[in-house]
Amino acid sequence: MASSAYGSTLPWAEPSWYTGRPTPYYKESHKRLRDAVRQWCEEHIAPYTEEWVAAGAVPPSLYAACAKAGFLVPIASGKAIPKQWSNYPIIGGTKPEEWDGFHDFVLWDELMRGGSIASLFIGLVVGAPPLLKFASKQLQDKIFPEILSGEKRICLAVTEPAAGSDVRNITTTAEKTPDGKHYIVNGEKKWITNGMFSDYFMTAVRTGGAGAEGISMLLIPRSEGLRTRKIEVIAGPLSSTTYVTFEDVKVPAEYLVGQEGQGFRQTMVNFNHERLWIAFQAIRGCRIALNDAFQWAIKREAFDKTLIEQPVLRNKLGNCGRKVESLQAWTEQIVYELEHLSDAEGARILGGTTALLKVQAGMVCKYVAEECLKIMGGLGLTKTGQGARIEAFYRSVPSYVVPGGSEDVLIDLGVREALKLHRQAEKAKTKL
Ligand SMILES: Cc1cc2nc3c(=O)[nH]c(=O)nc-3n(C[C@H](O)[C@H](O)[C@H](O)COP(=O)(O)OP(=O)(O)OC[C@H]3O[C@@H](n4cnc5c(N)ncnc54)[C@H](O)[C@@H]3O)c2cc1C
Repeated sequence: MASSAYGSTLPWAEPSWYTGRPTPYYKESHKRLRDAVRQWCEEHIAPYTEEWVAAGAVPPSLYAACAKAGFLVPIASGKAIPKQWSNYPIIGGTKPEEWDGFHDFVLWDELMRGGSIASLFIGLVVGAPPLLKFASKQLQDKIFPEILSGEKRICLAVTEPAAGSDVRNITTTAEKTPDGKHYIVNGEKKWITNGMFSDYFMTAVRTGGAGAEGISMLLIPRSEGLRTRKIEVIAGPLSSTTYVTFEDVKVPAEYLVGQEGQGFRQTMVNFNHERLWIAFQAIRGCRIALNDAFQWAIKREAFDKTLIEQPVLRNKLGNCGRKVESLQAWTEQIVYELEHLSDAEGARILGGTTALLKVQAGMVCKYVAEECLKIMGGLGLTKTGQGARIEAFYRSVPSYVVPGGSEDVLIDLGVREALKLHRQAEKAKTKL
C-alpha cells in the first residue's frame, strides 16, 4: 500500500517515491537524509537566498556551518564515504557504511531545491575526487582535514582560454626545479568555478611532451604568483566563475597527484561523476519549474477559463512530465548499475552512457524551462514574484549544456564509447 505523500503533491513536482509510491531504490536512510537536508535548507538557506543572490555572495560563516551540519564529507565523497572519514558529521545522521549513490542523488536533489547554495560546493564536488582517488596518503592526510572542516576550499582547474573540450592540448606548464623539490607553474585557466574563494586548485598541467601523455594533475595552493579574477556568467551568481593566472608559482613536488603523465586519465574519470551530478540537479530544476507552472496554471484565468482548463496548456505540462520522469528513471538505472560495479568497470562500461545522460539532462532542461516560462506569461520573464524561480532556471539552462563537456562533444563521445563496448563484446564472443 502506498504511504503518505511528502512535499508538493502537484504532478511531477517531487520524485515518484516522495508521493508514497513503491520504489526498489530508496530506503529509510534515504528518507531521513531527504528530510534532514530539506529542513536544514528551509531554515538556513531559503529565507536568505534572495538577499545573497542580490549581493552576489553568502556570509563567510555559511561554509563552516555547512561543514558542521555534515554536508562536506558526503559531497567530497560522491557514491561511497571512505572509512577514514567516519569521525566527521554526515547530514541526516547517515552512517558512512550506509551511504550509496542514491544518497548522493537525494542530497543533490534536495540541495538544488533548497536554494542557490548548491553552487558553493561545485569546486568540492569536482576538485576533491582526484585527491581522494589518486593522491598519496601523506597529501590526503595533510589536505583533507582542512577541506572537510570547512577551513579551506578546493576547485578543479582544467579548462584554458585555448583548450576546453580539447583537454589533450592544454598548455599550462609545470617544470621541475633542478633539485627536484618543486614544480614551477606558468599558464592560465578559465571558467574555474569557485576559484575566487578557493585555497587549493586541482590543476591539469603539462609536465611532459605534447598530447595526453604529457599531462599531470598537480594540487596548487593559493600562493605567490597565483592570481584570480571573477568572470561574470549568465547563471550561478554565487558560483564565482574565475580566471586564474599562474606566474612562476612554486609548488612542492609532493603535491603531484598520482604519477606524472596520468593527469588526462584522471580528468576523464573525474568527468563521469560530474556528469551524473549535473543530471541530479537538472531533474530538480525541472521539478521546481513544473511545481510553479502548475500552481500558476491552476489559478490564472484567460478567456474565461483557468489555464489548466485549456488543452494546449495540459499538453505542454504532460510533455514536460513525461520527459522529467524518463530522465529520473534513466538516472536511477545508472546509479544502480554504478552501485553494482567496481569503479574501474563503472568507468569502462558507463562513461559513454553518463555522457549521454548529461546531454539528455540539458535537453530536458531546455524544453521544460521554455514551456514553463511560456505558461507563466510575463511572469516567466520577471526576476521577482511567482515566476522568479522559472526565470532563474531558464537563465541557468546553458550551465547544464556546456560545462562538464559540451553537448555535441558528449554525443559523439557516447557513440564512440558504445561502439568500443560493442567491439569488445564481439571479440569476447569469438574467444569462447
Ligand atoms: C559556467 C562555467 C563553469 C565552468 N566550470 C569549470 C571548472 O570548474 N573547471 C574547469 O576546468 N572548467 C570549467 N568550465 C569549462 C567548461 O568545461 C568548458 O567551457 C567546456 O568544456 C567547453 O569548452 P570551451 O568553452 O573551450 O569550448 P570549445 O572546446 O572551444 O568548443 C566550443 C563548441 O564547439 C563545439 N565542439 C568543439 N569540439 C567539438 C567536437 N570534437 N565535436 C563536436 N562539437 C565540438 C561544441 O558545440 C562546443 O560547445 C566551465 C565553463 C562554464 C561556462
